Amino acid sequence: MLKIVMKFGGTSLVDGNFKRLAEIVAEHARKKDKIVVVVSALAGVTDSLLEASHKAKNGRIDHVLKFTKDLERKHILGVNKSITSDYWRNKVKRKVKEVIEDLKNVLTGIAYLGELTPKSKDYVLSFGERLSTWIAWGTIRDYGLKSQYFTGETAGILTNSNFGEATPLLNVTKHQVKRRLESLIQKGVIPVVTGYIGVTQDGATTTLGRGGSDYSATIVGASIKADEVWIWTNVDGLMSADPQIVPSARLIPEVSYQEATEMAVFGAKVMHPKALEPAMEENIPVRIRNILNLKNPGTLI
Ligand code: ADP
Ligand code: ASP
Ligand code: MG
Repeated sequence: MLKIVMKFGGTSLVDGNFKRLAEIVAEHARKKDKIVVVVSALAGVTDSLLEASHKAKNGRIDHVLKFTKDLERKHILGVNKSITSDYWRNKVKRKVKEVIEDLKNVLTGIAYLGELTPKSKDYVLSFGERLSTWIAWGTIRDYGLKSQYFTGETAGILTNSNFGEATPLLNVTKHQVKRRLESLIQKGVIPVVTGYIGVTQDGATTTLGRGGSDYSATIVGASIKADEVWIWTNVDGLMSADPQIVPSARLIPEVSYQEATEMAVFGAKVMHPKALEPAMEENIPVRIRNILNLKNPGTLI
């Protein structure tokens, strides 16, 4: 019986299909493991939000409308692929539409003001995770498991106000996350938390830097003193080089926190450079695993 935080990267949610995520979670729930799920935006969505925020600043209302419509369609398609029952499908579709409506209002505001601040940009960038996490939640519920939706804010990830690359205030964060999630986990409820997002003391949304969902996962892991943190992605683990550039790259089965951090700092995108700090502090092993190759044990950090 393990307590595991599982982070699902955008690349692991292939074509917006969350069924693999739910199957993995269900398998561990059957073994009575205690699971917390951390979810990234679907692949490409954060980049498209960034682009949309700049176009909005330039007054492109036409793009705001087209963009939000396309983004809604993409996520509704994901809902249809992932969730079987009408009940959970309709519930999640309503949530997706609500989130899209909020995003449309924010982007419209930016377009009217012609002003994009670091603060408003972070709020826009947070919408990919707000959307994907509802689908993860609904798919897990559709598999008959108990689950509760959290954003980084409601889970209690408090940060400074360095928008775009915020630093978590770890002591308060650990205390808050533990208080909000631990009793649920013990009751067999699976908290599903947006990656990448934190909140300042005065309630503004922050992001933890690009690729920051890995960081969210280890922050949550350290808070609940997880036995392990698993990073699900689209490659077998940490490799000697980027396998998409160097096909002969070798898998590194085991590596220290220091070595993995060094590789992340020098560009191994599979791990956020700061993500291993909270894990190291609490001595929590981190595994990187390939959602498309479950037989492979991946990298153990
Ligand atoms: P996710 O959406 O799962 O967070 P990322 O794109 O952030 O995925 O990270 C996974 C990608 O990192 C892989 O597809 C791979 O191309 C790239 N990558 C770069 N360097 C490495 C490395 N040394 N080992 C493994 N993957 C790497
Ligand atoms: N969605 C965010 C990004 O693209 C965070 C992440 O994927 O980890 O940077
Ligand atoms: Mg990543």
